[in-house]
Amino acid sequence: MRDIGGMADVESLGRFLEHVGRPLSYASGVSARRRPKVQGLGRFIRAQVAQLGDVSSADVRRLVRRLARLFDDYDRLGEPLQQQRLAAARSIMASLQEAVDRPGPATPADPVDALDQPLERLPGVGTARAARFRRLGAPSVEELFGMLPWRYEDRTRLTAVRDLTMDRDHSVLIEVKAVGSGRAGRRRLSIVELVGDDGTGLLSVKWYNQTYLERYFRAGQRVIVTGRPRANRYGGSRFQMDSPHYELIDRQGDELIHSGRIVPVYHETKGLSSRVIRAVMRRTLDRYGDLWADVLPDWVRHEQRLMPAAQAIEEVHFPRAEAPVAQLQSGQSPAHRRLIFEELFLLALGMATRKRELRRESVPARFHGEGALQRRFIDSLGFALTAAQRRVIAQIEADLARPHPMHRLVQGDVGCGKTVVAVSAMMMACDRGRQAALMAPTEILAEQHVLTLRRWLEPLGLRVDLLTSGLRGRPRREALAAIRDGAAHVAVGTQALIMPEVRFHQLGLVVADEQHRFGVAQRAGLAVKGRSPDVLVMTATPIPRTLALTVYGDLDVSVIDEQPPGRRPVETRWLREPQRAEALRLLRHELASGRQAYIVYPLVEETETSDLKAATQMAADLQRQFPHAKTGLLHGRMKTEEKERVMRDFAGGDVHLLVTTTVVEVGIDVPNATVMMIEHAERFGLAQLHQLRGRVGRGRHHSVCLLMAGAAVGEEGRRRLEAVAGSQDGFHIAEVDLSIRGPGEFFGMRQSGLPELRVAHLIRDAGILEAARRCAERLLQDDPDLTAAGHRRLRAALERRWAGRLSLMTVG
Ligand code: ADP
Ligand code: MG
Repeated sequence: MRDIGGMADVESLGRFLEHVGRPLSYASGVSARRRPKVQGLGRFIRAQVAQLGDVSSADVRRLVRRLARLFDDYDRLGEPLQQQRLAAARSIMASLQEAVDRPGPATPADPVDALDQPLERLPGVGTARAARFRRLGAPSVEELFGMLPWRYEDRTRLTAVRDLTMDRDHSVLIEVKAVGSGRAGRRRLSIVELVGDDGTGLLSVKWYNQTYLERYFRAGQRVIVTGRPRANRYGGSRFQMDSPHYELIDRQGDELIHSGRIVPVYHETKGLSSRVIRAVMRRTLDRYGDLWADVLPDWVRHEQRLMPAAQAIEEVHFPRAEAPVAQLQSGQSPAHRRLIFEELFLLALGMATRKRELRRESVPARFHGEGALQRRFIDSLGFALTAAQRRVIAQIEADLARPHPMHRLVQGDVGCGKTVVAVSAMMMACDRGRQAALMAPTEILAEQHVLTLRRWLEPLGLRVDLLTSGLRGRPRREALAAIRDGAAHVAVGTQALIMPEVRFHQLGLVVADEQHRFGVAQRAGLAVKGRSPDVLVMTATPIPRTLALTVYGDLDVSVIDEQPPGRRPVETRWLREPQRAEALRLLRHELASGRQAYIVYPLVEETETSDLKAATQMAADLQRQFPHAKTGLLHGRMKTEEKERVMRDFAGGDVHLLVTTTVVEVGIDVPNATVMMIEHAERFGLAQLHQLRGRVGRGRHHSVCLLMAGAAVGEEGRRRLEAVAGSQDGFHIAEVDLSIRGPGEFFGMRQSGLPELRVAHLIRDAGILEAARRCAERLLQDDPDLTAAGHRRLRAALERRWAGRLSLMTVG
């Protein structure tokens, strides 16, 4: 079969070469003066290629594609670039002619294997370079293709030396007249100087500390240099260019890749320049680019008007000359759109699949209605629940009556009272004889929670145990034993709670607090703890709707959109060091009126002692400055009893000034405290600042939050401080946070267990995300397990992208 196909190919290829060869050699011979006659050559050749259609030999196909690419933008190029393209075309034509004369066996490669190849195997890469590519996150061909340019430079237009200006970059085609080297300046830099001529004037070009270039160039060569000209104070030319991009254009058979086109610029690493990456990319695309598989179902591609995948990967690296650079730059070219869509489609498909998997799990005995502990807990609170709290508690009750484990996300701004909701849910678990676990992102917060929960639950006869990785020795053994034999009704801790050595007697519910990054992976880890425990994830970080649907697409979402009565807006200001006196005046005034204040010191790592020293010093200084006020110190390294004592004193009004680390971030509720002063505020995250501010403004008095900016506050720090000072709205602050940090860091993609996004930007591409999600849902309706033959590739891609984090049903 292959032979017959091969023969047909040979014939049609022969005809193609004839048709194309003549105008090509004609154009190559035509002098610049007569050039208008061969206008439209690009269009002609593209049409011929289209007519040739598909060829069975992969090698020939690649050559034809390279040929076509040379003429994509040919018609709008200037004469020197056209000549260069023609030279490259002639050498491709020669190779094609060879294929016609001596047809070899077709060599169909397995697409997946080829893309999986390690880069060492590629020509011109080698072990050392491959290691550098690995450092950039590209161990194999597939990742190499996924390594997109971070910007593009338009080097398509050539300027005559005569017309150079100093206000922008220019590309100039010159003939090398002379090359020399020398040293100059105080630091005796080595300089290579090239003098070139383009018939309209001389240009001097200099490179520094790149002596090898002296041997790279020779008189008579033609080279394109791209850079910003400046006046030449010494030499015979009017302008000089310093360290421009350069490209020899006389090497036969090469396309222009570094100039004379829109040039991709890549992130570099030591020993791997953008220039080298570009060259490797070009060679690799030539060989394997057309193997980049189209995983999208046809109807999706058509409906969304997306180009074929292989074309997208080609154009995103080597755009056509007519592509608008601004569009490429902002990741919004059609090629980018195609790649982004695919990435988000796989993300949405994965989330939808997980959601279905979760709904497949079942739990037999379920609990109905309100139990005794839950009732007693709510009655023991000194306040009435808000309507929003009651609504969410009812939603949780309904979840727990269903025959599937609960997977619910509760969103609510700082101070809206999520803890009470969480504890209510925990009481529901205890009411049916199960244990509950509360997980916090840091040890400090876990310790904080344990104090609150003991205060609430011990009177109900329940035992609350703490388990963190900092807990060692006997207390640890005791806590583990209590959790294992069921003596502990509630376990509070960090992620240490889900480590393998922690065994529960009968775990019914896991609450993850303040964890917008408690992701898919950790939740999956829980299933082994209990028999599919119910899961409640709580966050004060409001996530824009489309994002929530994707990142938490497998969860049901509740919102607490109401604050307990009596909360007042907190006046927020950010101050620099010279304004400290002002801050202290305000502090003095509030203390004199009988109010209390928090002074928060950053503690970047819980183990960092230098910050701790600074906080201790600060407490001593303040005590000296305010001798009549009593100062307390609170930090995460104090023993639990000590912490309890300091907090009790502060809550009781015996301590007036509390110097503290972020221990107070959640939980503490002292209505008489009206000042929150945060040192080195620029070191805190936005959400954290908003949390801290939430500690004041809880009583009848007007409260103030002072953000003290350290000397080193940069541009980004300033934006953050302004965002907090300018808004009380956690939702708005989260959006700013998201736009400053980018979604990867914001959601902690790596920890989240979601596949990392390489091209898509969850905010910028929200529209595409929505479309991708709709398509994913429709697809799963028709083929829930992706078992249809046409979805094989898609399924494989999904499994690869999610790397085993989905348990798709396997095809029997
Ligand atoms: P967050 O949602 O930020 O975690 P918390 O659960 O820490 O908020 O609650 C903040 C404070 O508000 C706590 O002191 C809590 O006891 C109190 N609180 C919670 N619900 C109510 C309510 N309905 N009425 C009055 N105070 C409440
Ligand atoms: Mg909280």
